[in-house]
Amino acid sequence: MNLQSGTYYWPTTFPDAPTYPLLAEDLSCDVLIIGGGSSGAQCAYYLADADLDVIVIEKTTIGSGSTSTNTALIQYSGEKMFTDLINTFGENYIKRHLQLLQEAINEMETASKNVTIDCEFIRRDTLYSASCAEDVESLKKEYEFLKQHHCELAFLTKEDIEAKYPFSRDAAIYSYNDAEINPFRFTHALLDYAAKKGIRVYENTEMNGHFYDKQKGMMTVSTKNGCSIQARYIIFAAGYEGMEIKKEKKASFVSTYTVTTNPVKDLSKWYNRTLIWETARPYLFMRTTRDNRIIIGGLDDNTTYPEDRDSKLIHKKNKLIEEFNNMFPTIKVQPEYYLAAFYGGTVDGIPIIGKYEEYPNSYFLFAFGDNGTVYSQLLSKLIVKEIVEGNCPDLALYLQERPLLNKR
Ligand SMILES: Cc1cc2nc3c(=O)[nH]c(=O)nc-3n(C[C@H](O)[C@H](O)[C@H](O)COP(=O)(O)OP(=O)(O)OC[C@H]3O[C@@H](n4cnc5c(N)ncnc54)[C@H](O)[C@@H]3O)c2cc1C
Repeated sequence: MNLQSGTYYWPTTFPDAPTYPLLAEDLSCDVLIIGGGSSGAQCAYYLADADLDVIVIEKTTIGSGSTSTNTALIQYSGEKMFTDLINTFGENYIKRHLQLLQEAINEMETASKNVTIDCEFIRRDTLYSASCAEDVESLKKEYEFLKQHHCELAFLTKEDIEAKYPFSRDAAIYSYNDAEINPFRFTHALLDYAAKKGIRVYENTEMNGHFYDKQKGMMTVSTKNGCSIQARYIIFAAGYEGMEIKKEKKASFVSTYTVTTNPVKDLSKWYNRTLIWETARPYLFMRTTRDNRIIIGGLDDNTTYPEDRDSKLIHKKNKLIEEFNNMFPTIKVQPEYYLAAFYGGTVDGIPIIGKYEEYPNSYFLFAFGDNGTVYSQLLSKLIVKEIVEGNCPDLALYLQERPLLNKR
């Protein structure tokens, strides 16, 4: 899959990132993780302390897939409001989903403290604003649901917003304690942690086939360079490219665009350096980075053809800068890195753990959606719990055929 094109900021923040060898022999293990992006790294992190023999293979280099284009706003609120998700899944289901998302963000914070590579994890508040007057009512309903479920937040009026920011909106949810991270450093940090605990990591090692030995109860994976790995369990953490291994009908793709600016001297007009997004679909979103750059993203386009996606990059870059200038006219920015990328979501707004008959003892981690990194943290934990303990009731919430448990 031609995932993305353009120039990428995150890898420049870690030029001396660890490297790993190419697989050059046949191996066997308890758990094989396919993919060395943030999802594979999150699985490896959870498996690092289990008494299991684990291998990670990555077809190119660590963190070079969607992980290097991720804007890494770390939030529990996603593209579909929780109040909308309740209509599909029921209140108990969505209450549990919300709890698991909040736990996942806490676990990312804990993980970032357990590792030795700095992942630039910082707690940030979020401004989630109404893009138009018609959206105020649904935003208010969402606020009331979240408040009722003990989320720390406030509802801002137009006057409150104008007092804090140089732009105006009719209303907003201001939520405390979301976060931002450097996804490239985070991925490396988790794999470095896992490798130091004995997990074997191989780069430039691409899976190109598999078969199941019923008698042994083992999956065997072949690699493009002629090696094989036998495993009791496989976690397919190949990101959007996982769809090339197993198509999942609930997934869908669009093209999206981001710009990372030059470092800015004065961010004092940006209240608390909040993460910013809005109710419009598609929406604009922005954050700052540790070295005072601004990342602006959005202007999604329905095309799934790489040439078409890429032909719009310059126009979208200019438009993103223009949108930013409208909101923060006194912050002068220049685009330094800009990219076009495919971005995957699910039709019902909930990420997927795929378990398929033709892939025995295997889990497909389809953490698709705007909070992909948080979803991956959540799903990795559930998959690892099921592998290690043999049972994880919460995993059923995310299976591709979601049983609409507790719907009422
Ligand atoms: C522009 C953009 C902005 C985003 N912003 C946010 C955000 O603000 N917040 C958020 O939470 N999420 C965001 N996301 C989503 C987030 O980027 C993804 O959820 C996350 O990066 C997925 O990581 P991954 O490891 O699953 O995928 P990837 O990073 O793509 O990693 C998968 C890896 O698997 C490897 N691979 C594939 N096939 C094989 C094979 N056959 N053999 C071996 N290796 C293989 C690939 O080379 C790749 O390195 C954004 C996504 C995009 C595109």
